Amino acid sequence: MDRRHFFQSSALVTTGAVVGCATPSTAQQGVKTPFAVPTVTIPIVGSSEQFPVRRVYCIGRNYAAHAREMGSDPTREPPFFFQKPTDAVQYVPQGTVADHRYPTLTKNYHYEAELVAALGKGGRSIPVEKALDLVYGYTLGLDMTRRDLQRAMGEEKKPWEIGKSFDQSAPIGAIHPVGQTGHFTKGAIWLKVNGAIKQNANLNQMIWSVAEQISKLSEAFELFPGDIIYSGTPENVGPVVRGDTIEMHIDGLPNLSVKIV
Ligand code: MN
Repeated sequence: MDRRHFFQSSALVTTGAVVGCATPSTAQQGVKTPFAVPTVTIPIVGSSEQFPVRRVYCIGRNYAAHAREMGSDPTREPPFFFQKPTDAVQYVPQGTVADHRYPTLTKNYHYEAELVAALGKGGRSIPVEKALDLVYGYTLGLDMTRRDLQRAMGEEKKPWEIGKSFDQSAPIGAIHPVGQTGHFTKGAIWLKVNGAIKQNANLNQMIWSVAEQISKLSEAFELFPGDIIYSGTPENVGPVVRGDTIEMHIDGLPNLSVKIV
C-alpha cells in the first residue's frame, strides 16, 4: 500500500479539499473497482473547471534566513524536496476563514507561508529557460508542520513523514491561472497570527527560483500536469494553538486565512 492510499482512507471524510468524482483517464476507463477513491481538486479562479492535484511537492529551506533558523548552512546546495500526500490538501476559499484542525500527537504546531506553483504540463530534465512554460497557475499555501515530530525524526535519521505529511497539512487557496497573475519572482510574502506579523519577506529572497525548482525537480522525478510545488518558507516560522487565526499574503493574490480549532 503506498503512502497516498494509506492516508486517503482516513482523510477523506475530514479533508476540506473539494473531493469530486474523478474524470476517468484513459487508463481507468472500463476498470471496475470495489469502492470509489475520490480525486482531489482545487477550484480555478475565473473558471468552472477545477485543478486536479496529482502530486504535492515541497522544497525545503529555500530562504537563507529560514535555513539558518533550522540549523543549516544556506549555501547554494542543490534544493531538496519532500512530498505531502495529495489528499493532505485542504482547500481554503479566499475571503473566508476556514477551520483548520489542530492535528494529533504534536505540542509544537508550526505555520510555514509559501508560494505554490501549479503545473499544467510535465516533462523530464526541463532546462531552467523552459521551466516556467510548465506552470498553469499560482496560489498561496501553508506547509503546516508538526515541528516537534519533524525534529525528533530528523535527530533519529528517520523519515519526516509524520512531521510534514499528515492529513490536512497543506491548506491552499484557489489556483490563479498564470495569464491573470504573471509569474512570481518578487513581491511581499507575509503571515500574521491573530493580526500580529510573524513572517515578512520577499519572494526575491528565494535561494532557488520557481523556474530553478521545476528544473531541478524534473531531474529527480518526471513531472506531470496536476503536480503542485510548495516553494519554501521564509524565516520566523513559529507555533500556533487552538483559537489562533492565521492570515497569509502574497502580493498579487488574495489573502488566505485559517482558524486553528
Ligand atoms: Mn515548507
